[in-house]
Amino acid sequence: MPPLVEAGMLVIISGPSGSGKGTVVKRLSPENGYALSISVTTRSPRVGEEHGRDYFFATEDEFKKMRAENELLEHAAYVGNFYGTPRAYVEEQIENGKIVVLEIDVYGALQVKEKFPSAILIFLIPPSLPELSARLNNRGTEDAVTIDRRLKKALEELPLINRYNYLVINDDVPDAVNKINSIVTAERLKPARSAKIIEEFIASKPVNRNAKES
Ligand code: 5GP
Repeated sequence: MPPLVEAGMLVIISGPSGSGKGTVVKRLSPENGYALSISVTTRSPRVGEEHGRDYFFATEDEFKKMRAENELLEHAAYVGNFYGTPRAYVEEQIENGKIVVLEIDVYGALQVKEKFPSAILIFLIPPSLPELSARLNNRGTEDAVTIDRRLKKALEELPLINRYNYLVINDDVPDAVNKINSIVTAERLKPARSAKIIEEFIASKPVNRNAKES
C-alpha cells in the first residue's frame, strides 16, 4: 500500500443519487491537483455517457474477473448493478502526490476507509428529500421503478452520514465546490500529513545575524 500521508491524498465523495455529486466532482480541477478515479460498472451507459470518461462499462463476467484478480480497490452492488474502483490508477496517482477523488457509494467508501484510514470522507446531500426526488424525476434518465429504488437506497444510506468526516449541502454547485476545496486545503495543512516538511524544517539550520563571531 502506498504511503498516503506525505504523498497524495484520497477524497471520497458519496451521497444519494440525485445529490449532484457527478456535477460537483467534475468541477474539481486537475490544475488544483485533483485526479478523478473512473469506476467500472455493469450498468448500461446513459445517453451522453462515454466509456472511459464517465465509467468503464463492463459485462458482469468482466467485472467478476477484475474482482477475482484483485484489480478493484473496493466494490459494491447498487440497485441491481455492480460498481468498483480500479486499484492501479488510485495507487499511482496517490504516489504522484495527487488528490485522488472517488465518487462512490457508502459501502464502498467504508471499505476504502478501512484500507486507507487517512482518506477524507465527504457526504453530499441536496437541500431536502422533495428536492432530491424532483431532481431524479427531472433528469429523466431512469424509469419510475428505478427512481423509487434509488430513493429507498438514499434513505438507507443516510444513517451512515455519521461515519463521514464532512457534510456538504449541495444547494449551489460553485458553493459546494468551494466547500470541498476548503476541506481539502485544511486537511492538507494537518501536521500528520506534513511529517516530511516538519522534518526538513527542524533539520534546516537557524541563522542568528546578531550572534558575535568567536
Ligand atoms: P450511477 O448509476 O448513478 O452512476 O451511480 C450509482 C451509485 O453508485 C452512486 O451512489 C455512485 O456514487 C456509486 N458508485 C459509482 N462508482 C462506484 C464505485 O466504483 N464503487 C462504489 N462502491 N460505488 C460507486
